[in-house]
Amino acid sequence: MREYDVIVVGAGPAGSTAARIAANVGLKVLIVERKRRPGLPVQCAEYVPALIDLEVEIPEKAVAQRVEGMEALFPDGTTFTVRAPGYLLRREVFDATLAQQAVEAGAELWTDACALALAEDEVIVRKEGRILTVKTRVVVGADGPRSIVARAVGYRPHRLAVAYQVEVEVPEPLRVTRVYFDPTFFGGYAWVFPKGSTANVGVGVTGGGVDGRRPDLHGLLGKFLVFLGWEKRRIIRRTGGFIPVNGPYWRCCSGRVILCGDAGGFTHPVTGAGILFAVQSGELAGRAMVRYFCEATPLSIYDEEWRKFLGPPLLRAVRHRRRMEAVWTEDAQALTSLLREVWQL
Ligand SMILES: Cc1cc2nc3c(=O)[nH]c(=O)nc-3n(C[C@H](O)[C@H](O)[C@H](O)COP(=O)(O)OP(=O)(O)OC[C@H]3O[C@@H](n4cnc5c(N)ncnc54)[C@H](O)[C@@H]3O)c2cc1C
Repeated sequence: MREYDVIVVGAGPAGSTAARIAANVGLKVLIVERKRRPGLPVQCAEYVPALIDLEVEIPEKAVAQRVEGMEALFPDGTTFTVRAPGYLLRREVFDATLAQQAVEAGAELWTDACALALAEDEVIVRKEGRILTVKTRVVVGADGPRSIVARAVGYRPHRLAVAYQVEVEVPEPLRVTRVYFDPTFFGGYAWVFPKGSTANVGVGVTGGGVDGRRPDLHGLLGKFLVFLGWEKRRIIRRTGGFIPVNGPYWRCCSGRVILCGDAGGFTHPVTGAGILFAVQSGELAGRAMVRYFCEATPLSIYDEEWRKFLGPPLLRAVRHRRRMEAVWTEDAQALTSLLREVWQL
Protein backbone atom coordinates (compact mmCIF):
# COMPACT_ATOMS: atom_id res chain seq x y z
CA MET A 1 0.00 0.00 0.00
CA ARG A 2 1.26 3.50 -0.79
CA GLU A 3 2.17 5.51 2.27
CA TYR A 4 2.71 9.25 2.78
CA ASP A 5 3.41 11.65 5.64
CA VAL A 6 0.77 14.04 4.33
CA ILE A 7 -2.11 13.81 1.90
CA VAL A 8 -3.44 17.17 0.76
CA VAL A 9 -6.92 17.00 -0.75
CA GLY A 10 -7.32 19.81 -3.29
CA ALA A 11 -4.74 21.64 -5.43
CA GLY A 12 -6.22 25.11 -5.02
CA PRO A 13 -4.15 27.95 -3.56
CA ALA A 14 -4.57 26.60 0.00
CA GLY A 15 -3.61 22.98 -0.73
CA SER A 16 -0.69 23.73 -3.04
CA THR A 17 0.78 26.20 -0.55
CA ALA A 18 0.48 23.77 2.37
CA ALA A 19 1.97 20.98 0.23
CA ARG A 20 4.92 23.09 -0.93
CA ILE A 21 5.90 24.03 2.62
CA ALA A 22 5.62 20.46 3.90
CA ALA A 23 7.50 19.00 0.90
CA ASN A 24 10.25 21.62 1.24
CA VAL A 25 11.53 20.00 4.45
CA GLY A 26 11.51 16.54 2.88
CA LEU A 27 8.12 15.27 4.03
CA LYS A 28 6.50 12.75 1.71
CA VAL A 29 3.49 14.65 0.39
CA LEU A 30 0.73 13.62 -2.01
CA ILE A 31 -1.75 16.13 -3.46
CA VAL A 32 -5.00 14.64 -4.70
CA GLU A 33 -6.89 16.90 -7.13
CA ARG A 34 -10.11 15.90 -8.82
CA LYS A 35 -9.71 18.32 -11.75
CA ARG A 36 -7.61 17.37 -14.78
CA ARG A 37 -5.69 20.64 -14.42
CA PRO A 38 -5.51 22.63 -11.17
CA GLY A 39 -7.53 25.83 -11.50
CA LEU A 40 -9.59 24.79 -14.53
CA PRO A 41 -12.46 25.53 -14.90
CA VAL A 42 -12.03 28.87 -13.13
CA GLN A 43 -14.64 29.56 -10.45
CA CYS A 44 -13.58 33.00 -9.30
CA ALA A 45 -13.80 36.75 -10.01
CA GLU A 46 -9.98 36.67 -9.77
CA TYR A 47 -9.19 39.84 -7.79
CA VAL A 48 -6.48 39.52 -5.19
CA PRO A 49 -5.01 42.37 -3.12
CA ALA A 50 -1.38 43.30 -3.76
CA LEU A 51 -0.61 42.05 -0.24
CA ILE A 52 -0.38 38.60 -1.87
CA ASP A 53 3.15 39.69 -2.91
CA LEU A 54 4.22 39.09 0.69
CA GLU A 55 3.20 35.43 0.39
CA VAL A 56 3.96 34.30 -3.16
CA GLU A 57 5.66 35.54 -6.28
CA ILE A 58 3.03 35.87 -8.97
CA PRO A 59 4.42 35.20 -12.45
CA GLU A 60 3.62 37.90 -15.02
CA LYS A 61 1.65 35.41 -17.12
CA ALA A 62 -0.77 34.88 -14.22
CA VAL A 63 -1.68 38.59 -14.13
CA ALA A 64 -4.44 39.77 -16.47
CA GLN A 65 -4.43 43.36 -15.17
CA ARG A 66 -3.30 45.50 -12.25
CA VAL A 67 -5.73 47.84 -10.49
CA GLU A 68 -5.17 50.57 -7.94
CA GLY A 69 -8.66 51.21 -6.64
CA MET A 70 -12.17 49.96 -6.03
CA GLU A 71 -15.32 51.95 -6.69
CA ALA A 72 -18.43 51.14 -4.63
CA LEU A 73 -21.84 52.16 -5.98
CA PHE A 74 -24.50 52.30 -3.27
CA PRO A 75 -28.30 51.91 -3.43
CA ASP A 76 -28.89 55.63 -2.73
CA GLY A 77 -26.89 56.57 -5.85
CA THR A 78 -23.73 57.65 -4.02
CA THR A 79 -20.31 56.26 -4.92
CA PHE A 80 -17.12 55.87 -2.98
CA THR A 81 -13.67 55.17 -4.34
CA VAL A 82 -11.08 53.52 -2.14
CA ARG A 83 -7.44 52.66 -2.76
CA ALA A 84 -7.28 48.89 -3.26
CA PRO A 85 -4.16 47.94 -5.19
CA GLY A 86 -4.25 44.42 -6.51
CA TYR A 87 -4.21 42.01 -9.40
CA LEU A 88 -6.83 40.51 -11.63
CA LEU A 89 -5.43 37.05 -11.98
CA ARG A 90 -5.65 34.39 -14.59
CA ARG A 91 -6.68 31.90 -11.90
CA GLU A 92 -5.97 28.87 -14.04
CA VAL A 93 -2.35 30.03 -14.48
CA PHE A 94 -2.04 31.11 -10.82
CA ASP A 95 -3.35 27.80 -9.47
CA ALA A 96 -1.23 25.76 -11.90
CA THR A 97 1.86 27.76 -10.87
CA LEU A 98 1.30 27.09 -7.16
CA ALA A 99 0.73 23.39 -7.84
CA GLN A 100 3.91 23.28 -9.93
CA GLN A 101 5.87 24.94 -7.09
CA ALA A 102 4.64 22.22 -4.73
CA VAL A 103 5.75 19.54 -7.20
CA GLU A 104 9.15 21.22 -7.58
CA ALA A 105 9.47 21.16 -3.79
CA GLY A 106 9.00 17.37 -3.95
CA ALA A 107 5.24 16.80 -3.61
CA GLU A 108 3.55 14.21 -5.78
CA LEU A 109 0.45 15.47 -7.60
CA TRP A 110 -2.35 13.21 -8.73
CA THR A 111 -4.82 14.98 -10.99
CA ASP A 112 -8.17 13.58 -12.11
CA ALA A 113 -8.14 11.89 -8.71
CA CYS A 114 -11.03 12.33 -6.33
CA ALA A 115 -10.82 11.76 -2.57
CA LEU A 116 -13.96 9.85 -1.65
CA ALA A 117 -13.62 9.18 2.06
CA LEU A 118 -11.33 9.14 5.07
CA ALA A 119 -10.86 6.17 7.36
CA GLU A 120 -8.49 6.25 10.35
CA ASP A 121 -5.11 6.87 8.71
CA GLU A 122 -6.26 6.26 5.13
CA VAL A 123 -7.75 8.23 2.30
CA ILE A 124 -9.85 6.45 -0.29
CA VAL A 125 -9.22 7.88 -3.75
CA ARG A 126 -10.83 7.23 -7.14
CA LYS A 127 -8.18 7.55 -9.83
CA GLU A 128 -8.60 6.51 -13.45
CA GLY A 129 -11.63 4.43 -12.56
CA ARG A 130 -9.82 2.54 -9.79
CA ILE A 131 -10.47 2.84 -6.07
CA LEU A 132 -7.20 3.17 -4.17
CA THR A 133 -6.53 3.22 -0.44
CA VAL A 134 -3.63 5.47 0.46
CA LYS A 135 -2.07 5.51 3.91
CA THR A 136 -1.06 8.79 5.54
CA ARG A 137 -0.14 10.30 8.89
CA VAL A 138 -1.77 13.69 8.32
CA VAL A 139 -4.62 14.82 6.02
CA VAL A 140 -5.03 18.41 4.86
CA GLY A 141 -8.54 19.28 3.77
CA ALA A 142 -8.04 22.00 1.17
CA ASP A 143 -10.95 20.81 -0.92
CA GLY A 144 -12.97 23.98 -1.10
CA PRO A 145 -16.29 25.24 0.28
CA ARG A 146 -18.07 21.88 0.31
CA SER A 147 -15.16 19.94 1.74
CA ILE A 148 -15.61 16.19 2.01
CA VAL A 149 -12.67 16.08 4.42
CA ALA A 150 -14.46 18.45 6.82
CA ARG A 151 -17.64 16.41 6.53
CA ALA A 152 -15.76 13.15 7.09
CA VAL A 153 -14.43 14.37 10.44
CA GLY A 154 -17.79 15.64 11.59
CA TYR A 155 -17.88 19.36 10.80
CA ARG A 156 -21.22 20.92 9.93
CA PRO A 157 -21.40 22.33 6.39
CA HIS A 158 -20.53 26.00 5.94
CA ARG A 159 -23.19 28.61 5.38
CA LEU A 160 -22.67 29.49 1.73
CA ALA A 161 -23.19 32.47 -0.53
CA VAL A 162 -23.97 31.52 -4.12
CA ALA A 163 -22.42 33.35 -7.04
CA TYR A 164 -22.83 33.42 -10.81
CA GLN A 165 -20.55 35.20 -13.24
CA VAL A 166 -19.89 35.82 -16.92
CA GLU A 167 -16.72 37.07 -18.54
CA VAL A 168 -17.55 39.55 -21.28
CA GLU A 169 -15.60 41.61 -23.77
CA VAL A 170 -15.24 45.31 -22.93
CA PRO A 171 -14.66 47.98 -25.60
CA GLU A 172 -12.08 49.85 -23.53
CA PRO A 173 -10.05 48.74 -20.52
CA LEU A 174 -11.51 49.58 -17.11
CA ARG A 175 -9.12 50.99 -14.53
CA VAL A 176 -10.73 50.00 -11.20
CA THR A 177 -12.76 47.16 -9.77
CA ARG A 178 -16.40 48.11 -9.20
CA VAL A 179 -18.87 46.69 -6.68
CA TYR A 180 -22.58 47.46 -6.90
CA PHE A 181 -25.05 47.20 -4.05
CA ASP A 182 -28.79 46.83 -4.34
CA PRO A 183 -31.56 45.58 -2.03
CA THR A 184 -32.10 42.65 -4.41
CA PHE A 185 -28.50 41.44 -3.90
CA PHE A 186 -29.35 40.13 -0.44
CA GLY A 187 -26.28 39.80 1.77
CA GLY A 188 -24.02 40.33 -1.23
CA TYR A 189 -23.31 42.48 -4.24
CA ALA A 190 -22.62 42.54 -7.95
CA TRP A 191 -19.22 43.23 -9.45
CA VAL A 192 -17.33 44.27 -12.55
CA PHE A 193 -13.70 43.22 -12.31
CA PRO A 194 -11.57 44.24 -15.31
CA LYS A 195 -9.18 41.90 -17.12
CA GLY A 196 -7.79 44.01 -19.95
CA SER A 197 -10.03 43.46 -22.96
CA THR A 198 -12.57 41.55 -20.87
CA ALA A 199 -14.26 41.84 -17.48
CA ASN A 200 -15.73 39.43 -14.96
CA VAL A 201 -19.30 40.48 -14.25
CA GLY A 202 -21.08 38.64 -11.50
CA VAL A 203 -23.46 38.60 -8.61
CA GLY A 204 -23.25 36.81 -5.28
CA VAL A 205 -25.96 36.64 -2.61
CA THR A 206 -26.88 34.69 0.50
CA GLY A 207 -30.63 34.69 0.02
CA GLY A 208 -33.55 35.81 -2.08
CA GLY A 209 -34.05 39.17 -0.40
CA VAL A 210 -36.11 40.47 2.48
CA ASP A 211 -39.00 38.20 1.43
CA GLY A 212 -36.72 35.16 1.87
CA ARG A 213 -37.35 33.55 -1.55
CA ARG A 214 -34.69 31.43 -3.26
CA PRO A 215 -32.20 33.64 -5.10
CA ASP A 216 -32.67 33.75 -8.87
CA LEU A 217 -29.03 34.31 -9.78
CA HIS A 218 -29.52 34.11 -13.55
CA GLY A 219 -32.32 36.68 -13.33
CA LEU A 220 -30.25 38.98 -11.11
CA LEU A 221 -27.21 38.79 -13.37
CA GLY A 222 -29.36 39.30 -16.49
CA LYS A 223 -30.86 42.47 -14.98
CA PHE A 224 -27.44 43.65 -13.88
CA LEU A 225 -26.07 43.27 -17.42
CA VAL A 226 -29.05 45.29 -18.72
CA PHE A 227 -28.37 47.95 -16.06
CA LEU A 228 -24.77 48.17 -17.33
CA GLY A 229 -26.00 48.24 -20.94
CA TRP A 230 -23.87 45.13 -21.56
CA GLU A 231 -26.56 42.55 -22.25
CA LYS A 232 -25.42 42.14 -25.87
CA ARG A 233 -21.72 41.79 -25.06
CA ARG A 234 -20.07 38.56 -26.19
CA ILE A 235 -19.85 36.11 -23.31
CA ILE A 236 -16.52 34.34 -23.19
CA ARG A 237 -17.21 32.09 -20.24
CA ARG A 238 -19.71 31.48 -17.49
CA THR A 239 -18.93 30.29 -14.03
CA GLY A 240 -20.26 30.25 -10.52
CA GLY A 241 -19.85 28.61 -7.20
CA PHE A 242 -20.16 28.78 -3.47
CA ILE A 243 -18.43 30.93 -0.90
CA PRO A 244 -18.43 30.22 2.86
CA VAL A 245 -19.66 33.25 4.80
CA ASN A 246 -19.65 32.00 8.39
CA GLY A 247 -15.95 32.51 9.04
CA PRO A 248 -13.52 29.74 10.00
CA TYR A 249 -14.46 26.84 12.22
CA TRP A 250 -13.14 27.68 15.69
CA ARG A 251 -11.07 24.47 15.57
CA CYS A 252 -9.68 23.75 12.11
CA CYS A 253 -7.52 20.94 13.40
CA SER A 254 -9.23 17.71 14.41
CA GLY A 255 -6.92 14.87 15.38
CA ARG A 256 -4.55 14.50 12.44
CA VAL A 257 -6.74 16.44 10.02
CA ILE A 258 -6.18 20.12 9.23
CA LEU A 259 -8.59 22.31 7.25
CA CYS A 260 -7.37 25.32 5.31
CA GLY A 261 -8.71 27.71 2.67
CA ASP A 262 -12.43 27.56 1.91
CA ALA A 263 -12.63 24.09 3.49
CA GLY A 264 -11.89 25.68 6.86
CA GLY A 265 -14.07 28.73 6.14
CA PHE A 266 -11.18 31.13 5.46
CA THR A 267 -13.07 33.59 3.29
CA HIS A 268 -13.97 37.12 4.29
CA PRO A 269 -17.59 36.81 5.46
CA VAL A 270 -18.57 40.24 4.07
CA THR A 271 -16.64 40.53 0.79
CA GLY A 272 -16.31 36.81 0.01
CA ALA A 273 -12.61 37.25 -0.82
CA GLY A 274 -10.70 34.04 -0.18
CA ILE A 275 -7.61 33.74 -2.39
CA LEU A 276 -5.25 35.53 0.00
CA PHE A 277 -6.72 33.77 3.05
CA ALA A 278 -6.35 30.45 1.24
CA VAL A 279 -2.64 31.05 0.67
CA GLN A 280 -2.13 32.35 4.21
CA SER A 281 -4.01 29.51 5.91
CA GLY A 282 -2.24 27.01 3.62
CA GLU A 283 1.07 28.47 4.72
CA LEU A 284 0.13 28.20 8.41
CA ALA A 285 -1.04 24.62 7.85
CA GLY A 286 2.25 23.81 6.11
CA ARG A 287 4.27 25.30 8.95
CA ALA A 288 2.20 23.44 11.58
CA MET A 289 2.95 20.15 9.80
CA VAL A 290 6.66 20.92 9.67
CA ARG A 291 6.66 21.55 13.43
CA TYR A 292 4.57 18.40 14.02
CA PHE A 293 6.94 16.13 12.09
CA CYS A 294 10.25 17.84 12.93
CA GLU A 295 9.69 19.03 16.51
CA ALA A 296 6.76 16.88 17.70
CA THR A 297 4.67 20.03 18.30
CA PRO A 298 0.96 19.14 18.41
CA LEU A 299 -0.81 19.84 15.12
CA SER A 300 -3.30 21.98 17.04
CA ILE A 301 -0.65 24.73 16.98
CA TYR A 302 -2.36 25.52 13.65
CA ASP A 303 -5.49 26.71 15.48
CA GLU A 304 -3.44 28.97 17.72
CA GLU A 305 -1.57 30.41 14.76
CA TRP A 306 -4.53 31.15 12.48
CA ARG A 307 -6.43 32.72 15.36
CA LYS A 308 -3.45 34.97 16.03
CA PHE A 309 -2.72 35.99 12.44
CA LEU A 310 -6.02 35.66 10.55
CA GLY A 311 -8.56 35.62 13.37
CA PRO A 312 -9.12 39.32 14.13
CA PRO A 313 -10.28 40.53 10.66
CA LEU A 314 -12.27 37.36 9.97
CA LEU A 315 -14.06 37.25 13.31
CA ARG A 316 -14.88 41.00 13.08
CA ALA A 317 -16.33 40.37 9.63
CA VAL A 318 -18.45 37.48 10.98
CA ARG A 319 -20.13 40.01 13.33
CA HIS A 320 -20.59 42.44 10.43
CA ARG A 321 -22.21 39.76 8.28
CA ARG A 322 -24.65 38.84 11.05
CA ARG A 323 -25.61 42.46 11.53
CA MET A 324 -25.90 43.06 7.78
CA GLU A 325 -28.31 40.17 7.27
CA ALA A 326 -30.32 40.91 10.42
CA VAL A 327 -31.16 44.46 9.39
CA TRP A 328 -30.99 44.24 5.54
CA THR A 329 -33.62 46.58 4.16
CA GLU A 330 -35.13 47.80 0.89
CA ASP A 331 -34.78 51.37 2.09
CA ALA A 332 -31.97 52.77 -0.09
CA GLN A 333 -30.69 55.30 2.47
CA ALA A 334 -30.71 52.87 5.39
CA LEU A 335 -29.11 50.09 3.33
CA THR A 336 -26.39 52.46 2.14
CA SER A 337 -25.48 53.44 5.73
CA LEU A 338 -25.48 49.77 6.76
CA LEU A 339 -23.23 48.75 3.85
CA ARG A 340 -20.82 51.62 4.44
CA GLU A 341 -20.58 50.50 8.06
CA VAL A 342 -19.99 46.79 7.43
CA TRP A 343 -17.73 47.31 4.40
CA GLN A 344 -15.96 50.07 6.31
CA LEU A 345 -16.22 52.49 3.37
C1 LIG B 1 -17.84 33.04 -8.31
C2 LIG B 1 -16.74 33.25 -7.30
C3 LIG B 1 -15.99 34.43 -7.35
C4 LIG B 1 -14.94 34.62 -6.43
N1 LIG B 1 -14.17 35.74 -6.55
C5 LIG B 1 -13.12 35.93 -5.72
C6 LIG B 1 -12.25 37.06 -5.89
O1 LIG B 1 -12.39 37.87 -6.80
N2 LIG B 1 -11.24 37.19 -5.01
C7 LIG B 1 -11.02 36.31 -3.98
O2 LIG B 1 -10.08 36.50 -3.20
N3 LIG B 1 -11.82 35.23 -3.82
C8 LIG B 1 -12.85 35.01 -4.67
N4 LIG B 1 -13.63 33.89 -4.54
C9 LIG B 1 -13.28 32.91 -3.48
C10 LIG B 1 -12.05 32.12 -3.92
O3 LIG B 1 -12.25 31.58 -5.19
C11 LIG B 1 -11.78 31.00 -2.91
O4 LIG B 1 -11.78 31.55 -1.60
C12 LIG B 1 -10.43 30.31 -3.17
O5 LIG B 1 -10.43 29.67 -4.41
C13 LIG B 1 -10.17 29.29 -2.07
O6 LIG B 1 -9.04 28.52 -2.37
P1 LIG B 1 -8.94 27.02 -1.83
O7 LIG B 1 -7.61 26.52 -2.23
O8 LIG B 1 -9.33 26.98 -0.41
O9 LIG B 1 -10.09 26.24 -2.57
P2 LIG B 1 -10.38 26.02 -4.11
O10 LIG B 1 -9.74 27.07 -4.93
O11 LIG B 1 -11.86 25.83 -4.21
O12 LIG B 1 -9.65 24.65 -4.42
C14 LIG B 1 -10.14 23.44 -3.91
C15 LIG B 1 -9.67 22.34 -4.82
O13 LIG B 1 -10.06 21.09 -4.26
C16 LIG B 1 -10.48 20.25 -5.31
N5 LIG B 1 -11.38 19.23 -4.72
C17 LIG B 1 -12.59 19.41 -4.16
N6 LIG B 1 -13.07 18.24 -3.69
C18 LIG B 1 -12.13 17.30 -3.97
C19 LIG B 1 -12.05 15.90 -3.74
N7 LIG B 1 -13.02 15.25 -3.11
N8 LIG B 1 -10.94 15.25 -4.17
C20 LIG B 1 -9.94 15.91 -4.80
N9 LIG B 1 -9.97 17.25 -5.05
C21 LIG B 1 -11.04 17.93 -4.63
C22 LIG B 1 -11.19 21.17 -6.27
O14 LIG B 1 -11.25 20.61 -7.57
C23 LIG B 1 -10.30 22.40 -6.20
O15 LIG B 1 -9.29 22.39 -7.17
C24 LIG B 1 -14.68 33.65 -5.43
C25 LIG B 1 -15.46 32.50 -5.36
C26 LIG B 1 -16.47 32.29 -6.30
C27 LIG B 1 -17.27 31.03 -6.24
